[in-house]
Amino acid sequence: MYPQGSQSQPKGVIIARSPGPTVAAAPAARSARGAPRSLAAVQRAVVACAACPRLRRHCERIAHEKKRAFRDQVYWGLPVPSFGDPRARMLVVGLAPAAHGGNRTGRMFTGDSSGSWLYEALHRFGFSNQPDSTGRGDGLRLNDCYVTAAARCAPPANRPTPAELERCRPFLEAELRLLPRVRLVVALGRIGHEAWLRAAGWWSLPARQRPRFAHGAETRLPDGTILMCSYHPSRQNTNTGRLDRAMWHDVFRRARALLGPP
Ligand code: SF4
Repeated sequence: MYPQGSQSQPKGVIIARSPGPTVAAAPAARSARGAPRSLAAVQRAVVACAACPRLRRHCERIAHEKKRAFRDQVYWGLPVPSFGDPRARMLVVGLAPAAHGGNRTGRMFTGDSSGSWLYEALHRFGFSNQPDSTGRGDGLRLNDCYVTAAARCAPPANRPTPAELERCRPFLEAELRLLPRVRLVVALGRIGHEAWLRAAGWWSLPARQRPRFAHGAETRLPDGTILMCSYHPSRQNTNTGRLDRAMWHDVFRRARALLGPP
């Protein structure tokens, strides 16, 4: 696996806690035949992926044109691999890399405002060794936490299509198989929420039993996994006050309380 922090790595208030689905049986796991056998293999496969021409073109164009503030930097421009502690009990599922964040730095939630929110909260509650994330060589290490996303390429307007999400889902499915200690999932935004439910097999539940997305919602699934939801810390949410620091911190404070001390 790409080591954490390596430069060579290709990164409200809780308002409702639903009681959870009433079904007794966990959904059948998808076949793992032919799937990558390590997180490092998944990460390599992600970086080499070119399955979504629209997204690949967009990421390459952004990496070529750049933002004025970063014009002296070499953008990553490739699909962005997941990042974190392979023994994690907590999984954070975001939407996709940002055009000038992950697509620039090559690590999930790194080099943009969403990453600043995420890693500050992870550090505050003992899930990371530092409160910021500027680049792959910044020394950031996650503890008991793994960060991934529904799509691994930055999409135009932050909107991957359903087909693109479906093409990217096998990477998340593979990560779930390779992260056996995960027992708490924090889904950031509706797309991350749905992506995890689909990848974990819970989307097949009858719609009325499926966990709904709402900021602060918490569901204990029949296999014991706890699914927590939060608004995504995008600028669109944080600049408008839809998500404020207190609401955001409450999510990770609750996650820490559920998991116990680091
Ligand atoms: S979004 Fe996922 S499936 Fe599509 S090109 Fe990127 S890594 Fe591949």
